[in-house]
Amino acid sequence: MASGPFIHRFTRDLRLEDNAGLAAAAARGDVLPVLVIDERLVERLRASPRRAAFYCAAVRALDTELGARGSRLLVRRGPAARVVAEVARATGAAGASWSVAYDGVEAQSDRAAQSALEERGLAALLVHDAPAVAPEESAAARSVAGLGYRAFAPYFEAWRELPIVSYELPLWLRLREAPIASEPLPEPAEFGSDQAERCDPASARTLLERFLRDGASRYAWAARVPSAEATSRLSAHLSFGTISARTLCRVVRERMADPFSIAEERVSLRAFLRALARRDFFLQLAWFHPETSERALQERMREFVWERSHPALEAWCQGRTGYPLVDAGLRQLRATGWMHPHVRAVAASFLCFDLGVDWRVGRSVWDRWLIEDDPALATGNWQWIAGVGADMAQYPRIYNPERQRRSSDPSGDYVREWVPELRHVPLDEWFARTSASPQLGLDLFGEDAYPPAVVDHEQAASAFLNRYRAFASP
Ligand SMILES: Cc1cc2nc3c(=O)[nH]c(=O)nc-3n(C[C@H](O)[C@H](O)[C@H](O)COP(=O)(O)OP(=O)(O)OC[C@H]3O[C@@H](n4cnc5c(N)ncnc54)[C@H](O)[C@@H]3O)c2cc1C
Repeated sequence: MASGPFIHRFTRDLRLEDNAGLAAAAARGDVLPVLVIDERLVERLRASPRRAAFYCAAVRALDTELGARGSRLLVRRGPAARVVAEVARATGAAGASWSVAYDGVEAQSDRAAQSALEERGLAALLVHDAPAVAPEESAAARSVAGLGYRAFAPYFEAWRELPIVSYELPLWLRLREAPIASEPLPEPAEFGSDQAERCDPASARTLLERFLRDGASRYAWAARVPSAEATSRLSAHLSFGTISARTLCRVVRERMADPFSIAEERVSLRAFLRALARRDFFLQLAWFHPETSERALQERMREFVWERSHPALEAWCQGRTGYPLVDAGLRQLRATGWMHPHVRAVAASFLCFDLGVDWRVGRSVWDRWLIEDDPALATGNWQWIAGVGADMAQYPRIYNPERQRRSSDPSGDYVREWVPELRHVPLDEWFARTSASPQLGLDLFGEDAYPPAVVDHEQAASAFLNRYRAFASP
């Protein structure tokens, strides 16, 4: 084993447990923990003040955990390749490991940093840590050679049979403290944020335990019913790596294998595993098709012309479209940095089909409020909804926002929580009346009153579908 340390550069893997990159570094020598704040990270954190606060809290927690083990994070600001090379020179490190990014821009800079370090004679170990199953592993399970999977159903069939590797804290992990000074830990204000968020591996664990205790048997239902509040709420933790997807999958698989678990819970946990598999699916899609960060996966849809704007775009952003479920979702996102998964699908469908606005516009609007920092997942989902991505259905699934409200929020609790203007209104009756006579929904009581529907859903959706059909049919 070399006498110098080996650098582990923490990226979106802000934990010690079950960390593939850290295990790779530990196998090479004493580990020097480094955090690089480069231009792309600054851009991602500046985009969303809550995201910045969440990230800074996770970094602080990691530093404290390292402190308890006799080490500290060595923080540096600047381009990753330059920073890592400088630290290696100053400390005698033989190289660095880090977990790869799946977003096209960052993946490219990962590769550039790897080449730059190798040219200087340093080892650069790029490791898959974010997915439970690495893209190359699932691709190897395919009977046909090629760039991974483009359709989810066969991917899931293969994924569910694959083993999930574990990188529990290696016994031989020895951490070193850098002999050179660190720059200060990142603070939210550095990224223009005045928010405060709690984020550390312990809070991720607590969410997981709460989910297993209260949500596990209800998940299949709760994933469609926002007022149930029983999805895991782990997406932001997964995106910054304060919990690993492998740990989650293993825990869930073990629970499913328990012969005493009830059938309802097994069905629900299977749906949850499917959600985690979908995450891996979109990560491998971005890995093998980096160009899809800006271009449709489906070649036939690449030239389809979307609107970049619409008179009702601002109403959609503000949660004032006159469609209560869509509006509740947008308001939940703006207030909390998170939106229920099914409501995301309905709200995104509304933007793409009722307003005909480009999925890339919707993605960037949400990026300003989401805590999650997962461009690859945002892209995969937005393309899926817009009917230009991995969903192989012949025509896009256009959600009827009012029908969806009735089926997924029958009690009206979710809408009433986020749209206080409708708190005392019998929703079914109200919508039937306002859609028959739009003037009844007019803003009679000033800016605070709930607005009438900005478009007629049936007309807008059928006009869009005609345009889509004319374009997509040969
Ligand atoms: C238009 C649209 C945009 C989205 N943008 C993002 C995004 O930017 N970042 C993001 O993490 N998720 C995104 N999703 C996926 C999904 O809505 C969120 O992951 C989910 O709402 C997170 O809540 P949860 O942690 O309670 O999820 P749970 O339902 O508890 O699921 C557990 C985990 O599985 C993963 N997961 C679940 N559904 C999906 C999915 N459809 N695609 C990928 N992973 C999934 C997430 O990591 C999630 O935390 C988007 C979905 C849509 C329809």
